[in-house]
Amino acid sequence: MKNELKTKKKAKYCDYCENTGIIHNHHFEELGENALVPCPRCVVSKCLCGGEDPYFFYKEGKIEECFCRDTRMKIIKINMIYNRSGINRKFRWMRLNDFKSLSRQADDAKNSAYDILKQFPDVKKGLFLWGNPGTGKTLLASIILTELIIRYAVEGRFISISRNLFKTLQESFHEGSETFGESGKIEKELADVDILIVDDFGIQKDTEWKQETLYDLVDARYEAEKFTIFTSNNNPHKALKDLSQGRILSRIKEMCRILEISGEDYRDNL
Ligand SMILES: [Zn+2]
Ligand SMILES: [Zn+2]
Repeated sequence: MKNELKTKKKAKYCDYCENTGIIHNHHFEELGENALVPCPRCVVSKCLCGGEDPYFFYKEGKIEECFCRDTRMKIIKINMIYNRSGINRKFRWMRLNDFKSLSRQADDAKNSAYDILKQFPDVKKGLFLWGNPGTGKTLLASIILTELIIRYAVEGRFISISRNLFKTLQESFHEGSETFGESGKIEKELADVDILIVDDFGIQKDTEWKQETLYDLVDARYEAEKFTIFTSNNNPHKALKDLSQGRILSRIKEMCRILEISGEDYRDNL
């Protein structure tokens, strides 16, 4: 045990992977490779299994666990979590360095993102990002989720209010649908997941069922102190004021930092 501690202390800090053991392969798409690979300097250099699953090797007639195994298993776990996260294809594996802030507001939001990555899981508040369409809110929210999954291998989901949430729930009320009778299960999963991104937050006032569903989701995450990011094209102080008698807005104010990102259309500058 003592020896083990000694060697651990002696191990040099790896600048290349910031001691995470994992490197982001920026050209994964062109090359058809994995987005995350073990660090060639501090992991692959000590690998004796040739990167073959299940990452053991023979030494003097005995099977030993390879040095690379923990890192490779972690990458497999991250990939599994990532594949079920629901992150939009066009934002897959994008990192915080890929986010170009085009305004002071976007800069502030990016800085908040850095703080969250550093502090997680002891983050006091989530984010509510709002502003006109095309200013990179959904991209930034997706990036934060990606970074948290890579760094901490935590479970996270991305849902769009307009595109998936209500549609999925409504389907679950129809006999014959694959998810029939599972609305409770779906809602519980969204309430419990470590990180939730709720994209395109907001609804018409006249749909009471939707208001209650949203309130229940927001309230459940608030009560469980779960990290949540919302994005919206509308100013929440106005758009959410009358929903569920103001209860949704009051919860969101307590659980999130509300940041405006308005200005130029991000998509014109890519
Ligand atoms: Zn390294
Ligand atoms: Zn190995």
